[in-house]
Amino acid sequence: MARTRLVAGNWKLHGSRAANRALLEAIVEAMGKGASAECAVCVPFPYLQQVSGQLAGTALAWGAQNVSEHAQGAYTGEVSAAMLAEFGCRYVIVGHSERRHLYCESDAQVAAKFAAAQGAGLVPILCVGETLAERDAGITEEVVARQLDAVLSKGAFSSAVLAYEPVWAIGTGRTATPQQAQAVHAFLRKRLAGEVRILYGGSVKAGNAAALFAMPDIDGGLIGGASLDAREFLAIVQAAAKG
Ligand code: PEP
Repeated sequence: MARTRLVAGNWKLHGSRAANRALLEAIVEAMGKGASAECAVCVPFPYLQQVSGQLAGTALAWGAQNVSEHAQGAYTGEVSAAMLAEFGCRYVIVGHSERRHLYCESDAQVAAKFAAAQGAGLVPILCVGETLAERDAGITEEVVARQLDAVLSKGAFSSAVLAYEPVWAIGTGRTATPQQAQAVHAFLRKRLAGEVRILYGGSVKAGNAAALFAMPDIDGGLIGGASLDAREFLAIVQAAAKG
C-alpha cells in the first residue's frame, strides 16, 4: 500500500489571532482547488480553540507542538494529551530538537510523551536527528537509532509518524541534500515494521521540496519557517501532492 504523503507545519512560537486567520484562510482556499497532499498545522496551545473553529470541516488537520507525559496532577504549565484531543487535535509533535535541547527533554521523557499521545488517540510525530558535531563524528545512525529505540522499546510504532530532522538543518537555511536525507530515512525505515510515514524536516522550502520528496523513503515534510508563509507552504504541499 502506498504511503500517503503528509506535510505538517510547525508554527513554533509564532502567531496572533489576526495572522492565524489570514494564513489559514489562504491555505484552505487554495487547498480546495486541485490535488493536495494530506496536510496539517501544529500551532501554539492558546490558538487551538481558534484553529479548531476555523478548520473544522476542511481538509487541513491541526495539532500541537508538545504534550505532557502526565495525564493530570500538579504539573504547572503542562497540557495533557486528553486536553489536546478535546480541541480536535489529530497530531502532536514530540521530541522536537528544540524541546530536547532547550528544555532538556530526555529520550525516556519523549517516549513517555509519545505513549501519552497515543493513549489519547492522537498521532504523535516523533522527531529524531543528529547535531552537526554528531554528524561530523560519524555517529548520525547511532544517534537517531537511540532516539527511535527509546520509543520502540515501550511498544509498537503504530499509528504514528516519524520525522527525521537534522538539528544542523533546522531554521538554518542549510538543508540536507536529498541523498543525505534519503540515507537516514532508509536506515530508519529498516528499524520500523509496516508502512510508517517518515517526514524530512530542516529548512524545507518551495525551492527544494520536490527534490526531497522524490526520494523513495521521504514521505513528506515537517515545515517550520516556511509554514508561516501561505505561498511557500502551499507550494510545498503541491510538491508533495505530485510525484
Ligand atoms: C522545524 O521546526 O521542525 C523545522 C524543520 O524548521 P525549519 O523548517 O524552519 O527548518
